[in-house]
Amino acid sequence: MTEKLYEKDGSVFAFDATVLACQPTGTGFAVTLDRTAFFPGGGGQACDVGSLGGADVVDVSLDGDRVIHFTTAPLSVGSRVTGEVDRSIRFPRMQCHTAEHIVSGLIHARYGYDNVGFHLGPDEVTMDFNGELTGEQLDEIEDLANGVVFSDVPVTVSFPSPEELPTLSYRSKLDLTENVRLVNIEGVDVCACCAPHVAKTGEIGLIRLLGFIRYKGGIRIRLVAGERALADYRARCREAQAASELLSVPQEKIADGVTRALAASDALAQSNAALRKRVAELLAGGLLQTDGNRVLFLSGGEDHPDVARQLANLAVKSTGGIVAVLYGESERGFRYLLASERVDLRVALPEINRALSGRGGGKPGMAEGTFACARDEIERFFAD
Ligand SMILES: [Zn+2]
Repeated sequence: MTEKLYEKDGSVFAFDATVLACQPTGTGFAVTLDRTAFFPGGGGQACDVGSLGGADVVDVSLDGDRVIHFTTAPLSVGSRVTGEVDRSIRFPRMQCHTAEHIVSGLIHARYGYDNVGFHLGPDEVTMDFNGELTGEQLDEIEDLANGVVFSDVPVTVSFPSPEELPTLSYRSKLDLTENVRLVNIEGVDVCACCAPHVAKTGEIGLIRLLGFIRYKGGIRIRLVAGERALADYRARCREAQAASELLSVPQEKIADGVTRALAASDALAQSNAALRKRVAELLAGGLLQTDGNRVLFLSGGEDHPDVARQLANLAVKSTGGIVAVLYGESERGFRYLLASERVDLRVALPEINRALSGRGGGKPGMAEGTFACARDEIERFFAD
């Protein structure tokens, strides 16, 4: 059996131990020690990584009562080694995990809802509850949770006996009766959990509920705490700074600035639409009556699908044959709009597409698509 230092004290990151066994695994080595601070994972928290006697510890798991360390190099059985848990990974997890207990404890005490899901991801925590709460209620919970942080109350663990257990009141996801480890946040919450936690709530620094969604008859809350809350706040401030500079408004007026920018963009879109209509009318107004076909290429400011469509609709009235409006020129060819009042384009289109490497379709009076050919080929075809 391995003495599990992480069970009693989450603040132990460096320790000395004796190597009891070391076996090759194919990809590395499986090492057992007489004692360890490496948490093998559980309770929603992933296992620790770090170093052991100069080797990297890349994974840790529990085999009965023994903690197995998966290392990148062998260690001599019987030797004394120094282990070091990567604090930069473990500590933020403990901050988030203890924050989760505080929030879950407060929600349970106030509303009677259970935490039915917990995921401690690399950036944020999600927690599921079997009842619904409003944004205002969650604001209150967030205030209360941070009050617990500011009060800096102790977080302790205990291992009650099977006889003692039924007399205690605590939250638990499982119906365990032996080897139950209780994490007690003084005056706030008692919960069965196997993971290491911070020693005092002040170590959490800040608890921020980022948002929530309705989920399986309850809610799913997103939470950040501690170092991750700082990183999140910093990232949001940078975004806000960038947006405020782009919009030339103070950071606290970004929403006003975006509203104004969207209104200006809407007004521009409307005036552009009006101008395109006018362009189409002016182009159509200059056309003489013809009994044959008519080919119109759009370029520069005229080159727009709206102008093409409106021009085709107007020009068809002064054209006996087919109006072909070509626009959107690229290295592949042109986009086309064909219109006619006398020629049934559903009948004529297959031949047109065949002759001009075209693709497209439409109705008897209007068709659209692309021609993968040169300008003079299109001009020659419709001149015949
Ligand atoms: Zn827990």
